[in-house]
Order: sequence, then structure tokens, then C-alpha cells
Amino acid sequence: MAILVTGGLGYIGSHTVVELLNNNFEVIIVDDLSNSEKFILNNIQEITGKKPIFYPFDLRRKELLHQVFDAHTIEGCINFAAYKAVGESQEKPLDYYENNLFTLINILQEFKNRNISNFIFSSSCTVYGQADKMPIDESALLKTPESVYGKTKQMGEEVLKDFANAYHSKICLLRYFNPIGAHPSSLLGELPIGVPNNLVPYVMQTATGIREKLNVWGNDYNTEDGTAIRDYIYVVDLAKAHVAALQKLMTNTSVETTIDIFNLGTGKGSSVLEVVEAFEKANSVSVPYQICDRREGDIEIAYADASKAEQELGWKSETTLQEALKTAWNWQKYLETKTN
Ligand code: NAD
Repeated sequence: MAILVTGGLGYIGSHTVVELLNNNFEVIIVDDLSNSEKFILNNIQEITGKKPIFYPFDLRRKELLHQVFDAHTIEGCINFAAYKAVGESQEKPLDYYENNLFTLINILQEFKNRNISNFIFSSSCTVYGQADKMPIDESALLKTPESVYGKTKQMGEEVLKDFANAYHSKICLLRYFNPIGAHPSSLLGELPIGVPNNLVPYVMQTATGIREKLNVWGNDYNTEDGTAIRDYIYVVDLAKAHVAALQKLMTNTSVETTIDIFNLGTGKGSSVLEVVEAFEKANSVSVPYQICDRREGDIEIAYADASKAEQELGWKSETTLQEALKTAWNWQKYLETKTN
């Protein structure tokens, strides 16, 4: 019996594969390496002492996916595979709709035809837009996301709810806040792609000198220091939540449709300048920055009420912002040794 992890060589996927292997799950990874590298597979093996089965192909190729389901007894899926660059999604909307939705539908077709349940979907706090009140719990109103990327996440959630209702399936939607950091071994982390959209990769590239200055988008928000606030969740903590969610789905023997939704965050908001300061302190480096105009589409503040995950999954975030930022920097240094 195995768990299919799509995008399992990506940032969150690779950390989750490690946690699954450490919890004795058999793991099958499908990843087309469009945003990951083969060496991550070896590093997973180095950390866990186990080598997951790996298929390098694009999940849009239905016939190859079908063969994987024929070859293994799959009893659940964690679906990380997606394109995730917000800016790029505006420039290439069809690529994003096609990749993020067709891949999902192809897997669900296999689930339906083989009567498999237990599906976990990587969603995002972007589905809440600028929520009316903080912290954000799972009952907060969903707003149409500004970006095509965000829309693919919201549409993915709808596809899954309809799927679960029609086929009495068990699904779990995990709405991540802002994942940061890297594995404590420094063997896994977020791979840089182009100009980073997210704060922490940008901070790191500035600290290494790849970028001259960090652009802080707006200091006139209605927050204490005027910069935008987000909820930064350590990636290993996030990975552990997937194992807890999977265990909950798999031990639920009810034949009823189940749609679980959990916010995964720390419950604490940090401003851009607080993150910069924490990074500088954690790593004894300096991060030059400049204040710029607000960036279109950015919201003022978002942090999670993650108490539902604590009550129902027995999971909560354990790692401080500074600890997480230290691991991120160690990963950056590891990457430099690989490219030199
Ligand atoms: P990532 O890009 O590091 O990982 C995604 C992986 O999927 C990559 O390894 C890529 O090669 C693979 N992939 C993409 N399309 C594929 C396809 N058609 N077939 C096979 N493999 C494919 O991204 P991540 O940061 O690990 O994010 C994982 C999931 O979490 C994504 O669905 C993302 O939208 C979601 N998410 C991420 C964040 C974040 O800030 N990182 C926040 C909220 C939600």
C-alpha cells in the first residue's frame, strides 16, 4: 500500500516525503522536474536511509499516470504538483489553468475508476484574499483571488468538493500560509526560480549579494511599522501536518463523504521589517532594503487561526521565525557549495 506524492521533489513535497518515510509510509513520487532537481531524491535518501519510488513525468500525461496506478496499490495521494509563481501566472494563464487543474483531474479520474479515497490538496491562504477579521479561521469568506495562480487553487478546491460529494470520497484541503525555511540537515529547501516572489527567498538573495537591495513593497499599511503582515510557517512543521492529515483520513472508516479543511500557519503575524530583522539576527548578516510603493494585488495582513488543526489533527507549529530563518540561510550556503 503506497501514498502517491505528486511534486514530491519540490519544496514542500520533499520535506513531506521525508516525514512520510520517517513514519513508515511507502512513497511513490511523480515529479516532472519542472521546478525541482534530481539531486533532491538522493538527499531524501541520505536523510531517511530510504529511497522512494520515483517516476519523472508530467502528470498531464494520463497514460503514464494510469500505468503507475496499475503498477502499485495506491491508497492515497498528496498532490503538491502545480505551478506556483504568481507573476508568471498572470502572463501565462493558460499554462497555469492547464497544469494546475488538468493534473488534478487526471489523478481524480484514477481515484474514481479505482475507488480510491484519501486525497490531500495543497491549497493556500490566498483563497481568503484580504479577510475581514484576524486571525483567519476556516469559515472566513472566500474571495476571488487576484492572481490566476490563486484562482487555480480556489478552483481546485471546488473540483475536489464536487468530487467528494459525487463519489463519497474523503478529501482534505490544506490552506498553507507562508512556508519558509529548510530541512535542518540543509539537504532540502526551496530552489530559487527567477526573481523571487516571496519575501524570504528575496531576503536571502539580497544577503548573498545576488540582489542589491530588498524591495519592501509599501510602508503605509495600517500595521505597527507600516509594512505588510504575513504568517510564516516553518516548512518541516508544515510537512508534519500532512502526515497528521493523512493519518486522520486513513483512520476514518466512515463511508460518508468527508471534506476536511485546515489552515496551516503559526497563528502569529510578522511584518516584512520584523522578518528582515529576525533574519539579520539569526544569521549575523545584513539585508539592505529600500521602501517602494505598494505592489498591486498585495494585501495588508493575513495570519491564521490554526486552532482547528490543533484540535482535530493534534498538530501545531513548533518552530520560531528566527529558527526557521536560520535553516533557510544554511540551505542557501549548501546550494552555493553545489554550484561552486
Ligand atoms: P514547488 O514548485 O517547489 O513544487 C512543486 C513540484 O511539482 C515541483 O517539483 C515541480 O517540478 C512539480 N510539478 C509541477 N507541475 C508538474 C506536473 N505537471 N507533473 C509533475 N510534476 C509537476 O512548489 P512548493 O512550494 O513545494 O508548493 C507545493 C504546493 O503547495 C503547490 O501546489 C503550491 O501551489 C502550494 N502552495 C505553496 C505555497 C508556497 O509558498 N510555497 C503556498 C501555498 C500553497
